[in-house]
Amino acid sequence: MPDNVDADTFNQLRETVQRFVAERLVPNEMRVEIEDDIPEEIVQEMRDLGLFGLTIPPDYGGIGVNARQEVQLAQIFGHTALAFRSLLATNIGIGARGLIFEGTQEQKQQYLPAMASGELISAFALTEPDTGSDPASLTTRAVRDGDDYLISGTKRYITNARRAGLFTVMARTEFDRPGADAISAFLVPADLPGLTIGKKDRKMGQRGTTTSDVMFDNVRVPASAIIGLTPGRGFRLAMRVLDRGRIHIAALATGMCDRLIREMVGYARERRQFGKAIAEYQLVQAMIADSYTDYRASKALVEETAGIYDAQGAARTEASAAKYFATEAVGRVADRAVQVHGGAGYMSEYAVERFYRDVRLLRIYEGTSQIQQLLIARQILKGE
Ligand SMILES: Cc1cc2nc3c(=O)[nH]c(=O)nc-3n(C[C@H](O)[C@H](O)[C@H](O)COP(=O)(O)OP(=O)(O)OC[C@H]3O[C@@H](n4cnc5c(N)ncnc54)[C@H](O)[C@@H]3O)c2cc1C
Repeated sequence: MPDNVDADTFNQLRETVQRFVAERLVPNEMRVEIEDDIPEEIVQEMRDLGLFGLTIPPDYGGIGVNARQEVQLAQIFGHTALAFRSLLATNIGIGARGLIFEGTQEQKQQYLPAMASGELISAFALTEPDTGSDPASLTTRAVRDGDDYLISGTKRYITNARRAGLFTVMARTEFDRPGADAISAFLVPADLPGLTIGKKDRKMGQRGTTTSDVMFDNVRVPASAIIGLTPGRGFRLAMRVLDRGRIHIAALATGMCDRLIREMVGYARERRQFGKAIAEYQLVQAMIADSYTDYRASKALVEETAGIYDAQGAARTEASAAKYFATEAVGRVADRAVQVHGGAGYMSEYAVERFYRDVRLLRIYEGTSQIQQLLIARQILKGE
């Protein structure tokens, strides 16, 4: 895919995002942790900078960065509390991408400009109470009723559900056969009768990001709410959306490795034990060196994968490998960062304690590490 955004414009955008992260987001990390919410003035600044529309094509009011450009920006967002990126993430990624990939012109016109401006937040509703790693067995039903469908079921852990104005909902439209071909992707406005949002989940980390259940009780939508209008394509579309999302998550993990190394190095230089800075001890240096190596390997892998995606329009196995490696790597780096901080690393006023909890999620959502291993092995054994 060619660059939608030319090099000069992109460099300016990158510098703007770098400045915004350093000057506005990093200083507000602790506030977000304590309040478990992102201050409204920061949300507005994100809108003003066009950040909700980073990956939405310019024809629909977005900036339209390609995968290589997106991974550079995602690495910058990885330098701060991951909740900030999470607020943008559904619009940049899983909430909007299905519509961008397969929506009709009319569907795109209806929703994408409002998503690009950040006026409309979208969410992606695939997971259910009994269906996580195996989404082909999901049970949310969409039953045909004249020109409409009636959707019933429960979706679980849906990011940004409480802020969302629109859900992309994967639901079963055929009931006499199991599996992927019986699932369709619906665009469901949040204000329809029968749609309710559960309470805010209490979770381990990424405070400031919210997830909730979303319940559908005979929610009536027209047949024209199916993305691309063709039923039965929803599962494959969801997998396509997640493939691209995995490159983004890998980039985010890579950026966070860099931040954690900076935190480690800063502390190791300052902290003195046995009469010397702990940075002078080789066992501490080994933790820094191993973390730097994890960081460089993640960076190389994710940037190469984004290049393949732009050249070929897909990078399934490579994206799984990048997500698997980079998210496991940031887990190791966060663990070492806490260790280098000693007792301070266990205390909430130090960023590494928060990041240690934040990064744990990266190995779980958008496909667990085990699911990435299965996907990689399956593709390789098929000879792809
Ligand atoms: C904070 C947060 C935000 C989320 N946001 C969203 C969202 O916006 N939209 C959405 O749809 N979902 C979202 N999710 C859901 C997330 O994608 C799922 O939690 C994830 O896919 C794992 O599913 P599960 O929790 O049901 O775990 P399970 O599938 O029950 O897995 C449990 C364990 O079993 C392992 N396992 C499962 N199957 C196999 C297998 N075949 N071989 C080997 N091991 C296996 C898994 O790797 C894992 O270790 C979110 C989750 C969280 C925690």
